[in-house]
Order: sequence, then structure tokens, then C-alpha cells
Amino acid sequence: MFIKKYSEFRCIIPTFLNALSDVDTPESNIWSASFRLDQDMRPLFPYINSALDEAVYYEKPEHIRFLFEGYRCFLYSEVIAAHFFESKLAAKEFIASFMDFLNDIYNQKETIRPNYDQIKQVPIIEILKILPKTNCQKCGYLTCMAFAAAVTHGRVMVDNCPCLISPISETAVYPILDNNGKVVNSVSLKLDTAGLKKQIQEQNEQILLLEASLRENTQNENQQKVHMGSGKSDFGLTDREIEVLQLIAQGYTNNEISGFLFISPHTVKSHMINIFNKLNVNDRTQAAVLATQKGII
Ligand code: SF4
Repeated sequence: MFIKKYSEFRCIIPTFLNALSDVDTPESNIWSASFRLDQDMRPLFPYINSALDEAVYYEKPEHIRFLFEGYRCFLYSEVIAAHFFESKLAAKEFIASFMDFLNDIYNQKETIRPNYDQIKQVPIIEILKILPKTNCQKCGYLTCMAFAAAVTHGRVMVDNCPCLISPISETAVYPILDNNGKVVNSVSLKLDTAGLKKQIQEQNEQILLLEASLRENTQNENQQKVHMGSGKSDFGLTDREIEVLQLIAQGYTNNEISGFLFISPHTVKSHMINIFNKLNVNDRTQAAVLATQKGII
């Protein structure tokens, strides 16, 4: 078992809730709890980040936030804070299932693809600087300020504002692993993706052009086939006669053709006579040449 015990359990009513008048009613969820685990949880953060849809992994201070059993959890290296419980007892009961959950994640690490995406908490005012400040509400928030606050807290990505101009660069976070493959740190590097995006856009445009020209060629080919088909029907050849003609053109003898098509040599001969008459030719060589020229075979 990865986590074996906890310590320093505390359960309090936060001051701002304490000031409310109805906090003493039994159904009020007002208790906040915190406790310390006997392991450094940071190596598990990318796995929790991947396993839970609503997890948000922060860069500084390094911690991860998520909902577990309906409680809002803030997991730091060894300390966990969780809100809001209906009683101290509920908070205490929560600890056991929470430790089971973390141990499960630890045991299943091999099957979880870690997600190293981290939120860098940028001050609201900095985010507001890059927004158009029109309060157009296209992002679903009433004001740009509200949107900026949501971005700061990782509730929404900044590119959810459709009015924002494209970024000049993006940041990639690379994990640093120790000899056992354990994540011990990470390095953030700026990536200039503007050039790459332009290149992708140009390639997409080229693909569209190629597809259009391919469609045009296919249409032309189909028209040609229709045209050739009408030439073929002009000669009035049956499907069987065309089969015979194809074999003639490949240099097979009447006996061989009879074997291929499971018909008698006599029938092959009669097909040959019909073909010669319809094509108005005197021998099999002329028939093969004409059939090729007219696109019959
Ligand atoms: S869509 Fe952008 S500009 Fe409009 S309110 Fe939201 S953040 Fe502001």
C-alpha cells in the first residue's frame, strides 16, 4: 500500500461561514477538513489529472484540485484540504475512502496515461489585459472580468473567448523523470506555434486544391468512359464477345479461350465471327488493335 496513514486531522468552520446566521442547522455543509498524508503526492498529480475529468493541475504552488465524492479537494504535496462537510464525522469518514482512491490511482499507474498539463495561475488583471473588454458575452460569461476570473481559476481555457487574437507562442511542460521513471520535476518551455499553424494552414489549402483537381479528373474520366461506352455499344458487342475479345488481345488461342470461359471451341469460333463482322475487321490482330483504340477493352 502506498499511503498507510494520515495525521494532523483538523476540521473547522471557515470564518466567513461562521458569520452566517444559519450555519448551525444540521443540514448545512459548512465544515472544512485538512489532514497530512505519509507520502509525497506530487508524482501522482499527472495521473489524477488524467483520471478525473474535472481535475485542474496547478503549476505554482504545485497542487491539484478536483471533486471527490462531491467534496471539493485541494491536494498539495502531502496535505489535503477538502470542503464542505455536513459534520466532523462525515469529514473523518471521508479520509478512508480518499486514501483508498489515491492508493488505487497509485496501483493503476501503469494503465493510466499521465496528463502533465498544468495551469499557471495568472493574475486576473493580466488576463484582462489581453481580452477585448467588450463584455459581448459570447464566452458565456456576463463580463470580460468574470471570464478572466474563471480563466485564473482554471474553470475555462482562455481560448474560449472567440474575440481573442491568436497567441504568438504556447508553453509546453516536459516532465523530468528519475532513474525509476518517477516524475521529480518539470520544465516549461515556450513553443512558437504561429509558424507551425501557418504551415498547417498552407498544407490544408494545398490538400483542398489537390482534392478539387482529383474530383475534376475523376469527372473527366467518367465522362470519357461514358463516351467510350457509347462507342462500344455502337459496335453492338455483347458482354461475352467483349470477354472473348479481351482474351484474343492477350494472345490466347481459340482452344485456350474455350478452356477459360468453359465454352466449346465451336462457340468461341462463332463469337469470333460475330466480333469480326461487328468490328468490320478480317483477323484477330485487327480486332485486338481496333478494340484497344476504341477503348472497348
Ligand atoms: S467573449 Fe471575450 S470579449 Fe466577449 S465577454 Fe467573453 S471574454 Fe469578453
